[in-house]
Amino acid sequence: MAEQIGNLTFGIIKPDAVRNGRAGSIIQRITDSGFKLRGMKLIHMTLKEAEGFYAVHAERPFFGELTEFMSSAPCVVLALEKAGAVKAWRDLMGATDPAKADEGTIRKEFATSIGENAVHGSDSEENARIEIAYFFSQLELI
Ligand code: GDP
Repeated sequence: MAEQIGNLTFGIIKPDAVRNGRAGSIIQRITDSGFKLRGMKLIHMTLKEAEGFYAVHAERPFFGELTEFMSSAPCVVLALEKAGAVKAWRDLMGATDPAKADEGTIRKEFATSIGENAVHGSDSEENARIEIAYFFSQLELI
């Protein structure tokens, strides 16, 4: 692996944004914000894969809706590097509910609802490592 300057976080461009042709614009926003792309691929999760990824939310009332949505169409999965990557990516994403997201955030611009909210981001460095390992092999990370 190349020398790592910042630290890593994990992101997903969710099915709503890919379906609407917004993946390119979102990747541009990410790189314009100073992130380096360390891993990137288009995937289409099965329902089981989405359930595995969101296992921590299994008891939440929206789990079925969330996992069906995430397996409904392709996503772009991303390993992103920047100093303070976890917080920097969550700040760029904005609040879960786009109605509450700040101006200039990706969810404000691209999300349509609290469920179909364009992007995912890890909430801690430990979860970032787990989530990157869930989707990427070592060979796919630069
Ligand atoms: P995040 O860290 O900002 O993505 O938010 P959470 O960890 O709280 O929730 C994970 C994901 O579940 C969100 O990004 C949404 O896609 C989905 N989600 C959260 N709350 C709701 C809800 O009330 N309804 C639905 N349908 N989905 C939700």
